Amino acid sequence: MKLAVAIDGPAGAGKSTIAKLVADKYNLMYINTGAMYRAVALKAVEKGLSPDNVDEICSLIDKMKIKFNGDRLILNDEDITEKLSLPEIAGKVSHFAAIERVREKLVFQQQNIAEEHDVIMDGRDIGTVVLKKAPYKFYITASPEERAQRRYNELMEKGILVDYNDILNEIIKRDHIDTHRKINPLKKASDAVLIDTSNMTISEVVEKICSHINIQ
Ligand code: C5P
Repeated sequence: MKLAVAIDGPAGAGKSTIAKLVADKYNLMYINTGAMYRAVALKAVEKGLSPDNVDEICSLIDKMKIKFNGDRLILNDEDITEKLSLPEIAGKVSHFAAIERVREKLVFQQQNIAEEHDVIMDGRDIGTVVLKKAPYKFYITASPEERAQRRYNELMEKGILVDYNDILNEIIKRDHIDTHRKINPLKKASDAVLIDTSNMTISEVVEKICSHINIQ
């Protein structure tokens, strides 16, 4: 493994915004692992597959060539980033992400990227599984209401019309599935630094993370 920074936390905690800024500062490749699970959910839904169709989903993943260009996800040469934030995908992704064989395949890809590049990766199991040996680990969280408000603002800015209460309920449901699933549930790695961002600005969080990172 080369240089690695792991960021975990629940939906809407601000992981991707923060990871991108830290990536720019230290010239790291940013890998949004949530976007990889969302890409699988998107393609499965497009093909009419449900989370029970494990064999079909696995062969779909084998045909998916996922690349990152900054914070854009390129799937088989198509930029599908915008589609990944559709509410329909957010509502379904956790069910696909709970499948053991899906996780094995994506974790394998993520670890391969980290073998080749200096990375900052965000997700749910980065500090506990994917980059277990990473020297820098952070667990970023905030209250469900604060996270729902941020997601709501983000989606409205993108022109996606949503209801705040729907977002809050979806976040609470997703937190439950992500923390209670059998395989690699969301939890803080014992050696991760805990940051509650509820009352912090983005630059305060970035500053706090950078104060722990010792890179020349
Ligand atoms: O980070 P984001 O909200 O885009 O993640 C979408 C979903 O993908 C999460 O709710 C979770 O179910 C799944 N996920 C995961 N493991 C990761 C990253 C995301 O299970 N490392």
